[in-house]
Amino acid sequence: MNTIENKRLKGKVAVVTGASSGIGEGIALAMGREGASVVVNYNSNEEPAQELKKKIEAAGSQAVVVQADVANPEDVARMFKAACDNFGTVDILVNNAGIQRDASFLEMTLEDWNKVISTNLTGHFLCAQAAAKEFVKRRVQHEERKAAGHIIFISSVHDIIPWAGHVNYATAKGGVQMLMKTLAQELAPNKIRVNGISPGAIKTEINRSVWENEGGREGMLTLIPYGRIGEPEDVAKVAVWLATDEADYITGTTIYVDGGMTLYPAFSDNG
Ligand code: NAD
Repeated sequence: MNTIENKRLKGKVAVVTGASSGIGEGIALAMGREGASVVVNYNSNEEPAQELKKKIEAAGSQAVVVQADVANPEDVARMFKAACDNFGTVDILVNNAGIQRDASFLEMTLEDWNKVISTNLTGHFLCAQAAAKEFVKRRVQHEERKAAGHIIFISSVHDIIPWAGHVNYATAKGGVQMLMKTLAQELAPNKIRVNGISPGAIKTEINRSVWENEGGREGMLTLIPYGRIGEPEDVAKVAVWLATDEADYITGTTIYVDGGMTLYPAFSDNG
């Protein structure tokens, strides 16, 4: 049983961006269930964020809902201030917010390019910087804490698999991969751990148009050797573990939570 004593994130404060749906919602709930106080960030859809706050509270943890566009520096500063005002500090940042604006390369508008880069890459930079500043200011203050803080980037298998028709998205995710590694290198002396989780196909709003119809679902499954589409909980469990001291010696690593999508499944039948 998950009693208060054995909750793995007891006493920690987590900021989860884009937490009103999908993977972010799953991570925020899982961290709340493990005892973390959670800042539930949303950009435009408040109602599910408020519902999530109630679920976290029902699990015995605290939560606060904060509207912020991760691509807006003033919003990000306000969100971290709200985290510190409500819970005293921040221990964990989950950089999850992300969007798609798909188009063939020849037809992609500068607006669609900029929108995806500013949310999926610059937004992650802004939140990581705000979190790291708080971690450095606070340092490892409590004896029970090993690291001074954790940053987890939710990237994508498309940080290594090129994706025609999605050049803005794949470029942003490739950038997140190097942002994560560089920060891990730069911040390790400050006892800050920085890691990435790269999901494969997870059933959320972002890809509803694909898994909602049978043809799309079947097509998706041909890319997944493990034979099932992922659920937000698959990613959430890994995020919780990465934020615990069980993962204390892990920094600068990406965990692919993808049912084998990055294993070149087209080659499984002799290529
Ligand atoms: P989703 O659409 O359910 O979640 C994305 C969330 O980000 C939404 O709640 C949205 O409101 C929020 N968001 C968008 N722009 C924002 C902004 N400017 N500021 C704050 N929040 C903003 O989809 P999801 O699948 O849960 O996506 C979460 C993350 O996982 C994204 O970074 C996505 O790229 C990544 N990912 C998803 C999959 C998948 O198959 N679902 C695969 C690989 C990576």
